[in-house]
Amino acid sequence: MSAFLSVAGLRHFYQGRKVLDVESLEVMEGEILAVVGPNGSGKSTLLRIINLLERPSSGDISFWDGSRLSSMGRGERRGLSRQMAMIFQEPLLFKRSVRANVEYGLKARGVKKEERRRMADEMLVRMDLSRFADRAAATLSGGEAQKTALARAMVLRPRLLLLDEPLVSLDAPSRKDMLAYISGLVREMGVTALYVSHDYHEVLEIADRLAVLIDGRLLQTGTPGEVFAKPAADVVAEFLGAENLLEGKVAESREGVARLEVAGVEMEALCELPPGSRVKVLIHPEEVALLPGEMEAGSVRNRLRAQVTEVRAQGALVKVGLDCGFPLVAYITRDSREEMGIDAGAVITAAVKATAIHVMPFST
Ligand code: ADP
Repeated sequence: MSAFLSVAGLRHFYQGRKVLDVESLEVMEGEILAVVGPNGSGKSTLLRIINLLERPSSGDISFWDGSRLSSMGRGERRGLSRQMAMIFQEPLLFKRSVRANVEYGLKARGVKKEERRRMADEMLVRMDLSRFADRAAATLSGGEAQKTALARAMVLRPRLLLLDEPLVSLDAPSRKDMLAYISGLVREMGVTALYVSHDYHEVLEIADRLAVLIDGRLLQTGTPGEVFAKPAADVVAEFLGAENLLEGKVAESREGVARLEVAGVEMEALCELPPGSRVKVLIHPEEVALLPGEMEAGSVRNRLRAQVTEVRAQGALVKVGLDCGFPLVAYITRDSREEMGIDAGAVITAAVKATAIHVMPFST
């Protein structure tokens, strides 16, 4: 399947400073691709360039209709612009009625009055905004206003919807509501969406794939599951707030299996990096198995003597803080906590399979 939109060798500079350096990014038709990364990492710049609001310093973009940024005439540019709609942090509504706002783009495109009204009203019904149709947009709550902005964009039936932190100025209930409308409409109308956010939690439920952008560089793309299980770099793991991110060193390596030193403790993991490499090691807390009692001397690798430092209920699970020579967190069920009698101060054994340890080159 060829990409709906593809970015190649895109670089952008502001005052001589490189803020964007994306070698390649493909967006597939009908997907919601969330571009996530800390503030200032170039997400909005990327969106503005794709939306033809800014010209990149270099690089090219191929669009779904076969056009390319590098060889686009003015007419083609305008035609393409009309196939895209953007939602910003603030709704930016006109000081007119809700209906007039939703009709605005249709009017600009020369859609006849009755047809315009029919289309706007249909969209207002779909968005549960009908009761506000004749209200002045300025009197709406933040959530209602952002929904109106979404209705105004979607009534134009864009091929590509660009969302730049659309939930930032909303309260928690409105965020949830808005997200449901975004994903519902995007799926129903077969639109492709690029959704920018500095908070990846916000997009987890609706994104098909994540693209992680940090310091202008695209470090990883993949489904949320893939990115969480195997972050491509330590900075990605840090951005995701990964627990159990530890520093270590490759002591020995043979046929893809390495002996690592993590805070003076020896561990075995799958890793192709050569001996001497500094690494960051990610041990997913749900992959840490706890065994009652202290381990026996000379036991198998990746069985660590662990002293329980903290036990805290977290939803259906229990978070257990451990001191294994380095701090380690494990999540276990309430039942297994009770069975094993795990309490602060207890000395137990933490076991991690070599395959459950994700090793990344050290970059920070
Ligand atoms: P994000 O959306 O990830 O927060 P931006 O794309 O807004 O990041 O910004 C990326 C970098 O480019 C930031 O360091 C920002 O300060 C800078 N920047 C953005 N717009 C401009 C501009 N118009 N002039 C100069 N620098 C800018």
